[in-house]
Amino acid sequence: MARVAIVTGGTRGIGRAICETLKSDGFTVVANYAGNDEAARECAEETGIHCYKWDVGNHEDAMAGCIKVAEEVGPVDVVVNNAGITRDGTLLRMSYEDWHDVMRVNLGGCFNMAKACFPGMKERGWGRIVNIGSINGQAGQYGQVNYAAAKSGIHGFTKALAQEGARFNITVNAIAPGYIDTDMVAAVPEQVLEKIVAKIPVGRLGHAEEIARGVSFLCSDDAGFVTGSTMSINGGQHMY
Ligand code: NDP
Repeated sequence: MARVAIVTGGTRGIGRAICETLKSDGFTVVANYAGNDEAARECAEETGIHCYKWDVGNHEDAMAGCIKVAEEVGPVDVVVNNAGITRDGTLLRMSYEDWHDVMRVNLGGCFNMAKACFPGMKERGWGRIVNIGSINGQAGQYGQVNYAAAKSGIHGFTKALAQEGARFNITVNAIAPGYIDTDMVAAVPEQVLEKIVAKIPVGRLGHAEEIARGVSFLCSDDAGFVTGSTMSINGGQHMY
């Protein structure tokens, strides 16, 4: 039987590329999303991937969503925590809601999904959790104290959970993408984007498929000795 993978925020952008790549790797893939039914319908029609709507930042909804997937599709072997939002602004302008929403979805979502799926992985003795962090969680970014904190938190979460998962054959890793040409980056003003691209040594934005290939490796049996690591895929923009 094919292993089951849930990709949060899997109906658009990087998540959709991850879904398609994991499907071609032989996984039965479920794409979760928040509210854009049109994108979900398109994703389901074009790829044949099952799409389920719930807010990953809501603990009860995420737990219920994962139970539903397990009942309707099968026990979950792989979780890719990809769902993410931005609510940018300098600290002076950022509201508490902007801070809280980003922490709740980007970081809280990782906890909720792991909480729901880790016990089953432990029981079956195999699992893969891949958390999508960000270059801005590694390096910080003006106007993003909320997003940088949440993404930085993802890297700590990954290392801590990797230690808990190791003896159950569950690997937990992170990918820190640089700037990738998705809707999220399309929202960045053009002049700002030009300055960002000028700082990327390979001279261009990344493609969603380039992140998906990293996820594909981390979810494979070949990556069984890789855990607690962060794979930076950023065109050389941030090296350490
Ligand atoms: P997009 O904005 O293109 O897509 C976001 C996806 O996440 C959508 O499917 C959206 O669902 C879903 N989503 C948002 N909030 C929730 C929620 N509360 N519950 C469930 N699903 C949710 O994002 P990208 O593809 O650009 O980014 C994907 C990930 O990669 C994010 O975590 C982002 O922070 C990270 N990243 C992106 C970079 C980039 O340059 N693009 C750089 C570094 C990191 P819906 O369609 O219903 O809204």
